[in-house]
Amino acid sequence: MKTYSEYLAGIFPGMKVQKISVNAGMSCPNRDGTIGTGGCSYCRVDSFTPSYCMEEPGVVAQIERGKAFFARKYPEMRYLAYFQSFTNTHGRSLAALEALYHEALACRDVVGLIVGTRPDTLPDDVVGLLSRLAADVPVFVEIGAESTFDETLRRVNRGHTWAQTADAVTRCAAAGLHCGLHLIAGLPGEDDAMVMENVRRACRLPIETLKLHQLQIIEGTPLHRAWLAGTADVEPYTLERYTALCRAILRIIPEDVVVERWLAQSPPQMVAAPKWGIKNYQFNNILK
Ligand code: SF4
Repeated sequence: MKTYSEYLAGIFPGMKVQKISVNAGMSCPNRDGTIGTGGCSYCRVDSFTPSYCMEEPGVVAQIERGKAFFARKYPEMRYLAYFQSFTNTHGRSLAALEALYHEALACRDVVGLIVGTRPDTLPDDVVGLLSRLAADVPVFVEIGAESTFDETLRRVNRGHTWAQTADAVTRCAAAGLHCGLHLIAGLPGEDDAMVMENVRRACRLPIETLKLHQLQIIEGTPLHRAWLAGTADVEPYTLERYTALCRAILRIIPEDVVVERWLAQSPPQMVAAPKWGIKNYQFNNILK
């Protein structure tokens, strides 16, 4: 199986590329009332937004700050503008989204776009916009599926179904976008067999990348409160059990799907469980 770096090298031959996370001040339909207000039960947005884009108001300023961080060491580096926080195809007009993406792509040395979003916020006009951009630069769409079981999705208050994910991936891939799915291992009520089935179903779709990570119980979330009350129906993975699961997953993943990451790394002070204290690259070494 290719590594994520090898995958990027195939798309950007001869270039060294680095993602820069951008917080465009977007909202989330599961928080702003479009489909719900409470959010997913495990979600705390400041646990997955890098500190360098928490306070910066402008997209360009965030990209320039990110570039300055990396360019000191690697002046030849090229960049992917990574619209990561919240739902980056939601809550703005098509014209406003187009202006936003163009703003990022106009930054010097930015050679591609990554848009993190939900499966239920990729209507045809947005997919069409991303497809037009993809005529000039590679465009990656990262879709949060989290589970393929509708009962789990309901329990964690995702507000969408697996059928919506399958439909969004199919339309995005047909529009020439590089598609990746995000899954979480250990959601309420899911055992290892269900996680394996999530991976199998995801890999039957036209995806190129998969991000899988262990469920983290983040302090202050509804899941954390349920966990403290003993009603969460989760058993946080030990590092040993999760390693064994990932090894089993490696055996069923098709050759043409790249696992971009295996680990979530929220700030340790926010994580109630599991507390492993290792980084993604260290876990990759354990898996070898
Ligand atoms: S995980 Fe994503 S979709 Fe769910 S509440 Fe958080 S930002 Fe919204």
